[in-house]
Amino acid sequence: SVETTFELVDQQFISSIIKLRKAFSHKGNFGHALIIAGSYGKMGAAVLSTKACLQSGAGLVTAHVPAKGVEIMQISAPEAMCRIDTQSEIISNIDYDLKPYTSIGIGPGIGKEKMTTSFLYQLLKDYQKPMVIDADALNILSENPDWLSLLPPGSILTPHPKEYARLFGNDMNDLEKINTALQKAHDLKIIIILKGHHTFIATPDGKGYFNTTGNAGMAKGGSGDVLTGIITGILAQGYKPNEAAILGVYMHGAAGDNAAAKYGMISMTATDLIEALKTPDLLTK
Ligand code: AMP
Ligand code: MG
Repeated sequence: SVETTFELVDQQFISSIIKLRKAFSHKGNFGHALIIAGSYGKMGAAVLSTKACLQSGAGLVTAHVPAKGVEIMQISAPEAMCRIDTQSEIISNIDYDLKPYTSIGIGPGIGKEKMTTSFLYQLLKDYQKPMVIDADALNILSENPDWLSLLPPGSILTPHPKEYARLFGNDMNDLEKINTALQKAHDLKIIIILKGHHTFIATPDGKGYFNTTGNAGMAKGGSGDVLTGIITGILAQGYKPNEAAILGVYMHGAAGDNAAAKYGMISMTATDLIEALKTPDLLTK
């Protein structure tokens, strides 16, 4: 069995993880993130995660979207490149080389159509590096629990409470949820992020982390899509998966606190979280 230790993720902790951007760096030093997201009527989720990814420091970002969603994406996020699916309304196939991508984030707004489900299976077979799995990609995993063992080591799951219950079971109190997350993280060699107030992060080495940033203004559609983009972008830059998860959750919450200070918890939106990432001292105060 593993020894469990708990830590608080605060500014001091974050400053021990963060890598400074070197003066002589170029975009090739910061990786290439691939965001696989969206379906007809849910392109907003794809746009939010792609924009957040662009603002997390990744060198290059590509969004794999259904054919109908390409214009929406290119207009909303001109800095991102697009992979255009052969299906017009859903994500359905991989007809390209995954090697250039230094990280992948999948799930926001993808739905659970049969072709999308097979796509996820193919991705789990083809891609060996850590992935960020969110939203409907988590729901697909809940319906195919055998596939959890196909997750590349270091992959990061970002369930909200309902997604967590679908994945690992209902009827758990908070302590049981934490213990189950630690056990699963250890057994599957993955990172599990239990999203909520004081988001909890379980890592494969038996450690648990409680985040200290964020607020109830983030309890709104789209907030989680932003987190997926942030973590995928940090992972792309070469941070270790544990670090990417911790740093991403902290940054996301810090952006939420800035957005709340500016617009108030009632009116702030997920788009404001993305805007609030653009704060020079976001990670240093
Ligand atoms: P999702 O449900 O996938 O959109 O994810 C919601 C995001 O907002 C997660 O990152 C949560 O941690 C965050 N969030 C939701 N409600 C709160 C809250 N009351 N306090 C802090 N963060 C929250
Ligand atoms: Mg979500």
